[in-house]
Amino acid sequence: MKKICLQAGHKGRTTGSTGAPGEQKWTSEIVPKIASILRSRGFEVKETGADDYKTDKSIGSTDWDLFLSVHYDADIYNDRGGFIDTPDPKVDIATKESNRIAQVMRNNYFKDTGIPEKNRSNANTKFYYMWSNLSANTPCVLIEAGVGWRTPEDHQTLHFQQDKVAKAIADGITNALGGDTSTGTKVEVDSKEFENLVKNSTFADNVIKEFELGSADFEKLMKLWEAKNTELINLNKRNTDLAKERDTLLEVNDSIVEQMETMLTKDECKAKCDKAVETAKKKWEAELPQTPTQPEVPEDNVDHWIIKLIKKILGEN
Ligand SMILES: [Zn+2]
Repeated sequence: MKKICLQAGHKGRTTGSTGAPGEQKWTSEIVPKIASILRSRGFEVKETGADDYKTDKSIGSTDWDLFLSVHYDADIYNDRGGFIDTPDPKVDIATKESNRIAQVMRNNYFKDTGIPEKNRSNANTKFYYMWSNLSANTPCVLIEAGVGWRTPEDHQTLHFQQDKVAKAIADGITNALGGDTSTGTKVEVDSKEFENLVKNSTFADNVIKEFELGSADFEKLMKLWEAKNTELINLNKRNTDLAKERDTLLEVNDSIVEQMETMLTKDECKAKCDKAVETAKKKWEAELPQTPTQPEVPEDNVDHWIIKLIKKILGEN
């Protein structure tokens, strides 16, 4: 039986690298879904969080057939998309197998979810902290499943079509490690498909029959679904608007910075600065405390004569 360890990225962390907004919640939801599909296909699957390996020594000592760390990205690229990466060969003895599995997973994931594949490999993924905490024979893969925050298309897929996302990841693993992808899955109907299905009267009749609903209940359900869908569409629109607003603000910011830079090179600005510095200097000098005078050495002090002599030698009074 092939053994797989699935890590929900950042899960359980309250400090340090806690992930993109909503990422921890998302990885905690998606990993059990991937695990359950894989288990139904005969794989042995262990689920883990960010730091369980510190207390659960089996994570680091087992030779897994795959260790997969699951993440999504924050909105840092000004674009949607995800990537699947493997460790730098320097920190991965199983690098050949890691790369082979990753490539099969890419072929499944981006095609099946519609999330575009990007080339965003970086030090955080190449030298991910777990790579040095796993056994040498364990092939390692990290997936950044998309941009799960503020990017409407990826957000929609990652948050509202989780079964599809989980299946796409599980299918890649199954195809890479050997197994049947036709079992153990139920795919969520996406909203467009669902809308078409609802318009089809046979479907409505079947649903009513299947769930033994009165047609009034069905109407109620449809209304509820429509309201939720409108809410979702509005949220996505608001999301896009906010992203536009942010871009405008960033442009305004750039133009202000540019203006400031031009102003500082102007002569009149320099003159104003010089004058301000001059005024401040005068004020500071006027407020300087007077240097306290040295106390006089009393005439009857025996050292007085010596001090006087030294001063004479130094050419002072
Ligand atoms: Zn992450």
